[in-house]
Amino acid sequence: MCEYPNPLATGAQAEWTLTCLKKEIALPSRAGVGGLDFNAYEVMEPRRPGATPAAARNGARVKHNNVPPEGVYLPNNNRLAPHMRSPDYVQMSTAAAITLGVMPGKMHRCSCTRCLNLLLTYPEGCRANCAYCGLARHREADRDYADRNFIRVDWPAVPMDEVVEIVAGQGEATPFHRMCISMITHPRSDEDTVTVLRKWTRRVDPATVPVSILSNPTTMSRADVQQLRDLGADIFTVALDAATPGLFDRTRGKGVASPHSWAKYWEILEDARDIFGREKFGAHIIVGMGETEHDVLTLVQQLVDMGGHSHMFCFFPERGSLMDHLPATPRDQWRRVQLARYLIDYRDVRVAHMRFDDMGRVADFGIPKVELDKIIDEGVAFRTSGCPGKVREDISACDRPYGDSPPSNIASYPFQPAAVDIRKIRHQLGLEEPGEAYVEGEELEV
Ligand code: SF4
Repeated sequence: MCEYPNPLATGAQAEWTLTCLKKEIALPSRAGVGGLDFNAYEVMEPRRPGATPAAARNGARVKHNNVPPEGVYLPNNNRLAPHMRSPDYVQMSTAAAITLGVMPGKMHRCSCTRCLNLLLTYPEGCRANCAYCGLARHREADRDYADRNFIRVDWPAVPMDEVVEIVAGQGEATPFHRMCISMITHPRSDEDTVTVLRKWTRRVDPATVPVSILSNPTTMSRADVQQLRDLGADIFTVALDAATPGLFDRTRGKGVASPHSWAKYWEILEDARDIFGREKFGAHIIVGMGETEHDVLTLVQQLVDMGGHSHMFCFFPERGSLMDHLPATPRDQWRRVQLARYLIDYRDVRVAHMRFDDMGRVADFGIPKVELDKIIDEGVAFRTSGCPGKVREDISACDRPYGDSPPSNIASYPFQPAAVDIRKIRHQLGLEEPGEAYVEGEELEV
C-alpha cells in the first residue's frame, strides 16, 4: 500500500487517509484493505494501459475477417466476432436479452429486468479507456469488442429491427418499463443514437416505454442534446462515474490515456438540465474509487439542487479492466452512501444536516433514529438506483441485476429486499436491531 500522498489527491483527503493508515484506527470487523472500512484514494490506483499491436487496433481482426452477422450473436471468446455495426445492430445486457426472449437463462431471485438497456456496437469499440470499464480501448489487444464483459455480464448483439419488432408486438403487455440507449465514445455514436431512437419511436409509443439516453458528452454538443429531446427522449443522463475532478482525470482522462474531461461532462450535464428540465436528467456515480463519503454526497446534493438525480453504482473490479486488481467497495461504505444518497434524493434531507467524521465518513444521517429505522426497513434505499419505471418515482426501472456485485454479496438489490436482506443490510451498517442478528449466508437460502 502507498504510504505517501498521491499528488492527485486533495490535501485534506491525503492527510486523513495517511492519519488513518498510520494510527491503525480501530474499525469494524467488516473492514476492507488496510483495516479501513472504505476504499482510500491511495489504494485505488489503476494500472497503466499497455500498448496494442497494430494488427489488433481499431477492430482490425473483425474487419479483416469480415464475417457477416446472422441474427442474434451471443458473446463467445473462442470464435471471431462477426462484423456488426450500429444502427443495424445493438448490444444488450444479459438480463435484457433473457427478458426479451432472445437468449435462455435465469437470474437469481429475479424473474426479469424492467429496463431494455441497449448499447451501440462497432468493431472499433469504444475509443475511450476508462480504468474501471470492461469496454475500454486497451482491451482490443486480447478481445473483440462484441465479446467484452461490461458491468460483470456479457452483452449479446441483436439486430435493432428485431428488437423493435418484438417490443412493438408486445404492446401494453411488454415487461419493459423503460428503454435506454447507451452511447460509447465513437465517431458515429451521435448520429447512430438518433437513428436508433427514430427506429424505436416509429413503432413503440414513448408513453408505453419511455426512452433514456446514457450519453457520451465527449463527442456531443448542446444541439445534439436538443435533437434527442425533440425526437422524444424522456430522460438524459451523464455518466460522470468519478465523484471528483482529480478522480475523473485519474480514471477517465489523462491518467489512463483517455479523452474525457470533467469540464466537458459538466457542460453537457448543464445543457441537459436546461433542455430536459427538472427530474429529467441525472448523473451516474461509482462509489468506492477513492473519493470520501463526504465528496460523493456533496455531489449528490449538487445534482439535487440542480433539479436532477444521481444514479449510483458500487465499484466492482471488472475482469480485464485496469482496476481489476483492486478491492470492491466495502459494504459498510457502500451502505452508508446508498442510504444517505436516498435521503438526499427522495426525503429532502440535506448533506448539511448530516455529520461526517474526520475521514469523511457518514457519522450521522441527519434525521431522528425512528425515521431512519423506518426508511431502512422499507428497503427501497438499497435497491438499484436509476431512471424510474412505472411503479413509483424512487424505484428504478433499470435494476441491472448483479451489475455491481455477485449475487452472494449483493450491493444494489434488483428486487425488493426481504426481511432477511434487511437484517444483512443492518449488519453491514452496524445498525442491527436487538434480537435480529444476521446469520452469515442465510439470505442465499431464500
Ligand atoms: S466511455 Fe463509457 S463505455 Fe467507453 S470506456 Fe469509458 S465507461 Fe467504458
